[in-house]
Amino acid sequence: MAGFYVHIPFCKRRCLYCDFYSTILLPRRGEYVDALLQEITERKKELNEPIKTIYLGGGTPSVLDSIDIFRILRTIGTDDAKEITMEINPGDADLKYLREIRQCGVNRLSIGIQSFKDDLLQLIGRRHSAIQAINAVHMAQEAGFDNISIDLMYALPSQKMSLWEADIEIALRLGVQHISSYGLMYEEGTALTKKKEQGELEVVDEDTENAMYDYLCKRLKKAGYVHYEVSNFALPGYESKHNSSYWNGTPYIGVGAGAHSYLPPVRSWNKSDMSAYIKKVNKGILQQDKETLTEKDMYNEQIMLGLRTAKGCMLSPSVDRRLTVGNYIQSGLLREEEDGRIVATQKGLHILNRIIEDLMI
Ligand code: SF4
Repeated sequence: MAGFYVHIPFCKRRCLYCDFYSTILLPRRGEYVDALLQEITERKKELNEPIKTIYLGGGTPSVLDSIDIFRILRTIGTDDAKEITMEINPGDADLKYLREIRQCGVNRLSIGIQSFKDDLLQLIGRRHSAIQAINAVHMAQEAGFDNISIDLMYALPSQKMSLWEADIEIALRLGVQHISSYGLMYEEGTALTKKKEQGELEVVDEDTENAMYDYLCKRLKKAGYVHYEVSNFALPGYESKHNSSYWNGTPYIGVGAGAHSYLPPVRSWNKSDMSAYIKKVNKGILQQDKETLTEKDMYNEQIMLGLRTAKGCMLSPSVDRRLTVGNYIQSGLLREEEDGRIVATQKGLHILNRIIEDLMI
């Protein structure tokens, strides 16, 4: 089984916190899709296994016309695909469009809501409103989507615990099958980080951020969601198959500017530059930058990704279990399952990056 990722790097405008590669040069969408189709046609030959999951991510895939979504999916081939996810911006959702992309084969939506508070959405530079977000979910349901994920952010500037609790209640009332939730990160060089450095923002402190995360986990668990990855929650049976395959080391091809591929043991990627990508593909050059992972690299990836999941990971015998792991277990940050897998506890999730670093070889 294999996955297929398609990167659509266009955004109508840049969110203030975002440090992902994306471009606002929307008039170049047509040329970009033509290049994508060429890359897909060539690169899918590299896969010897059926494509079980397809993910259209960005950027903002919903800035493309539905006919382009159709052309992309038809070129990949959807016969074996069990899950075809597309990220959409609530500001782009309308019933006709949602019905069309569903007819193209998209059977799972990931809607970038982030917050149900208009002033917070504005503060972080999102282009949609709370009411558009709610309507987007309702329209998606009306269009027949029964596998909907929404993204929510916490620790937004000046966000109080009560506002966060209210956001979670609205999300639960929407009846979505999956929630991904991330604390706001102040990435270097972003417009939001500059505002923070200039003292223009009321930044949420670490204790409140941890309390927001704990509340999220507790409330969603009570509502029947499975906490299957550090930032991901799903009703039973609705865990993201595509993302789970990243965490399990399943092979995947990624096409488009900035997209990564993994055909074990080789990881490869296109440069994050839309114009250079189009130029290169038009010249018939599909070569990517590459690295071959060593056993050690693969082990470390397994730790990095596995420890983020509820399944946890197996440790190499070379890790000092007694000292490193033993201390973490004694402090209630890790636990050991009967089969030897190591899993992060709720308390451990707060300092997961530090634990991961310690367990790498
Ligand atoms: S829509 Fe997504 S990719 Fe585009 S700027 Fe905002 S966060 Fe970044």
